[in-house]
Amino acid sequence: MPAHPVIRLKPREGRRALAGGPWIFSNEIAMDAAVKALAPGSLVNAQTSDSRPLGTGYFNPKSLIAVRLLDTVPDAEIGDAFFASHLARALGRRSALFGEQHYRLVHAEGDGLPGLTIDRFGDTCVVQVTTAGMEVLTEAMLEALDEVISPANVVLRNDTPSRALEGLEQYVRTARGEPASRLSVAENGIHYCANPGAGQKTGWYFDQRDNRAFIAKLAKGRTLLDCYCHTGGFAILAAKAGAAEVTGIDSSVLALALAEDAANANGIAGNCRFVKAEAFEELERLGRAGQSFDIVIADPPPFVKARKDLEAGARAYRKLARLAASVTAANGYLLLASCSHNMPRDRFEMECAIGIARAGRRAALIRDAGAGPDHPVHPMLPETAYLKTLVYALD
Ligand code: SAH
Repeated sequence: MPAHPVIRLKPREGRRALAGGPWIFSNEIAMDAAVKALAPGSLVNAQTSDSRPLGTGYFNPKSLIAVRLLDTVPDAEIGDAFFASHLARALGRRSALFGEQHYRLVHAEGDGLPGLTIDRFGDTCVVQVTTAGMEVLTEAMLEALDEVISPANVVLRNDTPSRALEGLEQYVRTARGEPASRLSVAENGIHYCANPGAGQKTGWYFDQRDNRAFIAKLAKGRTLLDCYCHTGGFAILAAKAGAAEVTGIDSSVLALALAEDAANANGIAGNCRFVKAEAFEELERLGRAGQSFDIVIADPPPFVKARKDLEAGARAYRKLARLAASVTAANGYLLLASCSHNMPRDRFEMECAIGIARAGRRAALIRDAGAGPDHPVHPMLPETAYLKTLVYALD
């Protein structure tokens, strides 16, 4: 097997990689013409300037994160066997925690597979590839997936906008079995509805699983407003747990229709209402009308998509906290979440605290959480713990 080309770091660069970090940035690399000419996604051996090996990775001269390391040894063979061992380890970690086979099976660097996300819904896997390196390795990965869990259906949802950063086109392809359409998602003991072929991301947000269960514990006999409800992740479980009345609002009719189907399937449609609305406008309207809810959930799409949007996004989170707190009843509960990678946790907590105070409310933080254990974080990349989910008890 031929040796991989060598990527050499500049003098004094690579401290994070030497300490076990999986990323090497383009400005850390000695970029000569030969390196620049490597095809995006090429396997490489990374080395420090004094030839200390950093391991095998894949390289993309077009990307800011130029090398993502896959193995600690140089010239590692990255093929079916590599993927099979990583997938088997990822599967073992999920099987230890979840009874149902519905979870995020692979969470990129957290599972040692940068650029790869796989959500598993029983015998259907929804795969997202976000880097040129993983794109090149897709066939080997699919072979290994067959070997390890043999899913009946596999869909490649390679239509995420972030692929453009790696020079990749966007497409959706059925790689195995039937095109993914409607399916049932098992979580927290109930069944939801999702459409992984057309829905947002992979069709389901597994990351809030534990936070949904926490809210459900509070729900009995209470009213609940679920802003940005998507397909009803928080709303349906709360209704099933005995909430008196649940209102979900979202801007997507596709998501709302799936939420309604899940309400019917769980026999709680009588307690649920799903409404198409813009969340800020609806919260302002409800506030003006003097309406309030015992529990308010606000789990919006990312407001800080790029680092340059931090200040504008921070103001939006603050405003959302104020509006949501304004419609939370006395002695009620408020959940505020941010899934923006670029919004640091301490900053988000500060914006939420200010927003709640500006609504004239006093609050105690009773849960400070994030994604569940099927979204593992590489310990050298704490910033990839993107989800912040805060629950407050209000006076
Ligand atoms: N809480 C959900 C996930 C929310 S994802 C769950 O538990 O599954 C964010 C949702 O916000 C998406 O469903 C999207 O359709 C919706 N959305 C985006 N912009 C919106 C807006 N301005 N007003 C209302 N909903 C919006």
